[in-house]
Amino acid sequence: MFPGVFKFMMRILIIGAGVIGASIAYELSRVKNLQVTLIDSHGATEGATCAALGVLMGVISHKTKGRAWKLRQSSLERYRTLIPELRSLTNLPIAHNQQGILMLRTDTEDRWEKLVTIRQSQGFSLELWDREKLYRFCPEVDNPRLTGAVYSPQDTQIHPGQLTAALVAGAVKNGIDCRFGVTVENIIASGDNRRAEAILTSDGIYQFDRLVISAGLGSTALSDNSIELRPVLGQALEMKLPSPLETGSFAPVITGEDVHIVPLGDCRYWVGATVEFPDFDAGEVHPETGLLEGVRQKAIDWCPGLALGTIERTWWGKRPRPHDRPAPVIETHPDYDNILFATGHYRNGVLLAPATASIIKDMIIC
Ligand SMILES: Cc1cc2nc3c(=O)[nH]c(=O)nc-3n(C[C@H](O)[C@H](O)[C@H](O)COP(=O)(O)OP(=O)(O)OC[C@H]3O[C@@H](n4cnc5c(N)ncnc54)[C@H](O)[C@@H]3O)c2cc1C
Repeated sequence: MFPGVFKFMMRILIIGAGVIGASIAYELSRVKNLQVTLIDSHGATEGATCAALGVLMGVISHKTKGRAWKLRQSSLERYRTLIPELRSLTNLPIAHNQQGILMLRTDTEDRWEKLVTIRQSQGFSLELWDREKLYRFCPEVDNPRLTGAVYSPQDTQIHPGQLTAALVAGAVKNGIDCRFGVTVENIIASGDNRRAEAILTSDGIYQFDRLVISAGLGSTALSDNSIELRPVLGQALEMKLPSPLETGSFAPVITGEDVHIVPLGDCRYWVGATVEFPDFDAGEVHPETGLLEGVRQKAIDWCPGLALGTIERTWWGKRPRPHDRPAPVIETHPDYDNILFATGHYRNGVLLAPATASIIKDMIIC
């Protein structure tokens, strides 16, 4: 028997059909003899995923070693094949901006030079642009504080909702079962052999051999509070302009001081996102309108042409952030050997979804 082929059908339940659960479902759907069921109380693209901007800051991030870099590297690699694979399997649209990410700089620190050297040794390219080159390639950018920019041609942006819908559709095409509108209430275990057998849901009891909890913020309750995730709210908006910001065809994602400007085509742009922590330690968090306006103003500071835009819609979502530990949480349940967590991806769930799915697949089929 070789990895990926099981003698008996193994029943796998995945709770949560955001980008993480959908990615896991898709990767597992490619393995023979697994009976996979994806459960969600709403449907794909609910939760944090539908609020995300899909900016995949891999090469341009300052994570250069250890687990944080390995996850990014593995995702970057898988994304190269995943998008064409899903498009041809499902025929669904997946908007994917492959013109790179341009990070605006107001500093003269040498940490970027160091990052360029490290990335070169890792087989990736990053370019340091002075002001003159920045204004030549991106005349839509104009701010006296700017010293230049870092251009990362291998980083991309992807539409999170379309990606997740395609992952689910691809997984279904490969034979998995989806149960949407089903809420998982708790885990049922009998005996003391470190194995759980079933989950109780709004649709009755589902038996499993392996359970994956990828329920975003809902994972805390399903972990009996052993995994504490807290919400960090993000607001964003979509703008429509009378004409494109760019003068040519070069339209990378522009990011500066944590504000992203994402070109969508057809004179439309996403702008975001706020980072809003709960008022008190573990409490709830509600969107503050003034903070979203601050993000819009910052975007206009970088690209003054955005001032002509009309706001077409605004939205918000809650990022699942692990409390007192690094994101994400990809590990076995402390009490049950046949339950895995894939959650707590905080600000990088779309970026890290392929890497997470690959780790979970390996944990299941090893
Ligand atoms: C404004 C904003 C911008 C962002 N931008 C980016 C970005 O540019 N790049 C990036 O990589 N990341 C970004 N993120 C972060 C990213 O959205 C998250 O890390 C990611 O979506 C988390 O995915 P998930 O599948 O773990 O959770 P979710 O998308 O929240 O999905 C969890 C699912 O579990 C289901 N669920 C929960 N409990 C239960 C239950 N008991 N029973 C059944 N179903 C249940 C929910 O219905 C939901 O569909 C952004 C987030 C926000 C809010």
